[in-house]
Amino acid sequence: MIVDKSLLREIPKVDEVLKLPGVQNLAGVYPRELVVESVRRILDEIRQDILEGTKAHQELNKWSYPDSLAARIAEKLERIIRPNLRRVINATGVVLHTNLGRAVLCPSAIEAVRMAASGYSNLELNLESGKRGSRYDSVEDLLKRLTGAQSSLVVNNNAAAVLLALSTLARGREVIVSRGQMVEIGGSFRIPEVMEQSGAILREVGSTNKTHPADYGKAINDKTALLLHVHTSNYRIVGFTREITVDELVDLGSEAGLPVMSDLGSGSIINMDYLGLPYEPTVQQTIQSGAGVVTFSGDKLLGGPQAGIIVGKKEFIDRMKKNPLTRAVRIDKMTVAALEATLREYLDIKAALQNIPTLRMISYDEKLLQKRCGVLHGLLKDAVDGMALIALEKGQSAVGGGAMPTADLPGWLVSVRPLNMPVEALADRLRNGDPAVMGRVQEDSLLLDVRTLLKDEDIILAGAVAAAMGREGSD
Ligand SMILES: *Cc1c(COP(=O)(O)O)cnc(C)c1O
Repeated sequence: MIVDKSLLREIPKVDEVLKLPGVQNLAGVYPRELVVESVRRILDEIRQDILEGTKAHQELNKWSYPDSLAARIAEKLERIIRPNLRRVINATGVVLHTNLGRAVLCPSAIEAVRMAASGYSNLELNLESGKRGSRYDSVEDLLKRLTGAQSSLVVNNNAAAVLLALSTLARGREVIVSRGQMVEIGGSFRIPEVMEQSGAILREVGSTNKTHPADYGKAINDKTALLLHVHTSNYRIVGFTREITVDELVDLGSEAGLPVMSDLGSGSIINMDYLGLPYEPTVQQTIQSGAGVVTFSGDKLLGGPQAGIIVGKKEFIDRMKKNPLTRAVRIDKMTVAALEATLREYLDIKAALQNIPTLRMISYDEKLLQKRCGVLHGLLKDAVDGMALIALEKGQSAVGGGAMPTADLPGWLVSVRPLNMPVEALADRLRNGDPAVMGRVQEDSLLLDVRTLLKDEDIILAGAVAAAMGREGSD
């Protein structure tokens, strides 16, 4: 590529650009500093293009036309102004997609967040006595009732819950964990690392595929503080295996006078096999087994806001409440509001299955999905007929969020095979639209899973695909 440096002289000055009528109009709409910043950035881009020789001469000339320059500046301003956090239509079929914000809140939780955010509330005030209350009061009763635990505490997320529990119960002392349970969640939560941060000393026992009760027995000594069970929520070890159950750990613990903690990760209150899914230990069962402390996430299978829920024996939870770390990882009022409303839904399991999007999406009936897929298929055929091959396919969705890795959720997908562009270009445009759309690229098709679409999103989705393929106004 030949670099024509004489072109650099054709680049106008910032002040000149600011005087162009099209740009003057922008100054009436946007703050002046932002207009100036955008002009500078566009001129820099032009300079860069010239130096890299990436643009043809005619195209460079186009930039000196006031209208096209103003249009580019307007586009830049639009990007600066528009919120970074935007709505995304999740057509991936992954119900708990960590990159897309995990659980979608139920309507009552959304209403509670609105209430808490838009006015004052009795967050730390007991309205009956007029005295100071605790922000945990509104969820504590519900958690006790739903899980059968003596006490509870809620912190920022489950990683914080594990950190707080270990730091409170085992700082400077040993915690025994099976080698088969050294989990890593999403690249940043690893049992050995959290253990180190908490000040507890990790004592690994057994092997990757087999750990026996005797392995724990041999490792217990006078420095042992805790026996930890970690639910391997995002992987399974299959074949020649032996993992110790929470019940067995509790037996070992009571012989040695040691508490047992179970990090459940996902932590469901509903029996998953009741929904036709693989068995997952519920929070209630784990408490009933005798675990002294159980931790789980608020935004995984529970389907609530991001939170780390700790339930268990009062003596342990009381000690955690006094740990200064609790203040550092405390939840805000919007989380309290959303969590209380979500937990309240569980008082009526039938209502919870209907109202909590996570549970509803996981338990969709295949027939219903097929019907919804048919609707999307029709909408897409109307919207992009002739520009893509649209087909209906049987497929699989996933629970996600590190939950139930082996659960297969049979579902229905619409595949879109664009004829006028590569599928990657279509996926790219959809991701950059507003709302953004995320699907799954497979070979030369984009797969759209209806399981994770919310009400009316199929219409918006069809419009977005049409717009991305260049057919405007099809929605
Ligand atoms: C997901 C998970 C965590 C981390 O929970 P966050 O709420 O994401 O902090 C910890 N332990 C297990 C077993 C998990 O599955």
